[in-house]
Amino acid sequence: MLTEHDLRRLDALYQSLEQATERFLGYPVSKDFEMGPLERFLRFPLNNLGDPFVDSTFEVGTRELEREVVGFVADLLRAPAGEVWGYVTNGGTEGNLYGLYLARELLPKGIVYFSEDTHYSVAKNIHFLGLRSITIRSQANGEMDYEDLAETLRINRDKPAIIFANIGTTMTEARDDINVIKGLLGRFAIRDYYIHSDAALCGGFAPFLDPRPAFDFADGADSISISGHKFFGSPMPCGIVIARKRHVERIARSIGYIGSLDTTITGSRNGFTPLVLWYRLKELGIDGLRRRAGAALELAAYAEARMKAAGIPAWRNAQALTVVFPKVSDALKARWQLATQGEQSHLIVMPNVTRAQVDALVNDMIAEREPRENGNPTNTPSTQEPGHA
Ligand SMILES: *Cc1c(COP(=O)(O)O)cnc(C)c1O
Repeated sequence: MLTEHDLRRLDALYQSLEQATERFLGYPVSKDFEMGPLERFLRFPLNNLGDPFVDSTFEVGTRELEREVVGFVADLLRAPAGEVWGYVTNGGTEGNLYGLYLARELLPKGIVYFSEDTHYSVAKNIHFLGLRSITIRSQANGEMDYEDLAETLRINRDKPAIIFANIGTTMTEARDDINVIKGLLGRFAIRDYYIHSDAALCGGFAPFLDPRPAFDFADGADSISISGHKFFGSPMPCGIVIARKRHVERIARSIGYIGSLDTTITGSRNGFTPLVLWYRLKELGIDGLRRRAGAALELAAYAEARMKAAGIPAWRNAQALTVVFPKVSDALKARWQLATQGEQSHLIVMPNVTRAQVDALVNDMIAEREPRENGNPTNTPSTQEPGHA
């Protein structure tokens, strides 16, 4: 039974979450969503068990809306009509696992190539699947080093290739170019290949960039994974995976117990997140998504410029929402929940980030540098008035 104390703990948790949400700038999670109209659906034991495109005997679910979400995202990713299949996942990781699973079923002897900047979960997924893999060096900006890839493909040209392309790496939002990669596969006459795009972060807005990064179905991807809680925004983790239908048909098995096809990774599947994504995508529409991307990019440019003006050597990949700068102190890292790896920290200007938050962060960074200026000659002097935290 819940005691008074338990209830107070819930209140305290609520308040601390409210504050923590105000100040996170280092992770690619949008928080500008309002889910009021969906709250009533929490009364149902929603479960989208099985394949979203095949009816199940279990009817308490949101499969029709899930299919619409898949259709909307497939169009965004320039999938040929009627030739792709997909579902709403628990997040980008599951979509990546799914893409690699399909790749393994099609090319069991294939070698997975991925850059050293790939998300940490991918090596684990490759291990689950028992696939062979080779890590490719990255360029300084985080993008795959195509010369290293070429050299490695040349040595292994007798084996099928499974390309795991990053469409926005975790630390620097670098995008591997699958056109360039396809060129290399052609150069070494590797005909058995599979390309998966990990578009966890960028899949929601890359379609609106100009030039458009080479990553989608029209560019030659076989499967693409996107996180739903990143650019789109969701109160709980979710994602979308889309793959070419002919690949999925290779793995589909009919299961009498659920009256559906076992084409997904998990058995029970979240029936609430398809509702969330459907609502978000309807609410924003293509124009809303485009505007959101434009506004976030503008603010990312502003953040980079402000840091540079303050003498902080910040930089950003072309058309990226991620601003990279030298590692900040533990205090700043904790205050703004800034992801830090090696000598780099980053700020990710998701659509909900405000100019005031960017200013407050930059002011904190400036304030932190001031006292060290005399003692540390490598510190570029600030060109701005000292900030205040
Ligand atoms: C976030 C992210 C993932 C993992 O996605 P989840 O939705 O957190 O499971 C994988 N790859 C990249 C590049 C990411 O940014």
